[in-house]
Amino acid sequence: MKITAIYPGTFDPITNGHTDIVKRAAKLFEHVIVAIAANPSKEPVFSLKKRIDLATRVLAELNNVSVRGFESLLAQFAKQCGVQVIVRGLRAMSDFEYEFQMAGMNRTLIPDIETIFLTPAGKYTYLSSSLVREIATLGGPVGDFVHPDVYAALCQKMCQY
Ligand code: ADP
Repeated sequence: MKITAIYPGTFDPITNGHTDIVKRAAKLFEHVIVAIAANPSKEPVFSLKKRIDLATRVLAELNNVSVRGFESLLAQFAKQCGVQVIVRGLRAMSDFEYEFQMAGMNRTLIPDIETIFLTPAGKYTYLSSSLVREIATLGGPVGDFVHPDVYAALCQKMCQY
C-alpha cells in the first residue's frame, strides 16, 4: 500500500527544523505533501504565496515531496488530498498538549487518518519560526537556522520595517 502523508503548518517561514521533519517523513512515506495553511488568525509575516514559494525552493531536491497551500479546515483538505497520515513535529513537552488536542479533534473529524509525531535532531528542538522572526527583526544572525533563500527573504522583509 502506498501511503501519502500530509505535513501541515503555518511555515512562517520554513526553518531547518521543519525541513528535518520533512526529510524524515519522506523516508517513511511514498509521498509527503507539505501543506501550508493560510492561517490569517496568526497574522503571518509572509504571504501564503511567499511561504509556498520559499518551501518549494527549500524542498526542491526531495523528489517525493510537494508543497501546497490551503485555506480550508485541515481535516477537509487532508481528505481532499486522499492522505492516510498527518505528520506533526514534536520538539518538547510544551508542544505536546496542543498537538494531543489537535490529533484528538482530527481523529473525531476524520477517523481513518492517523496523526503521527516525529522528533527533529536535537539541535532543532529549540527552533521555531517565531523565534527566527524575532531574532531577525532585532538584526540578529539567523543564517544557521534557515535556508539561504529564506534568510534573504527575512532580510528583505525586515528592511521594510
Ligand atoms: P503551526 O501554526 O501549525 O504550529 P508551524 O509552522 O509553527 O505551524 O509548525 C508546523 C509543525 O512543525 C508543528 O507540528 C510544529 O510542532 C513543527 N515544528 C516547528 N518547528 C519545528 C522544529 N524546529 N522541529 C520539529 N518540528 C517543528
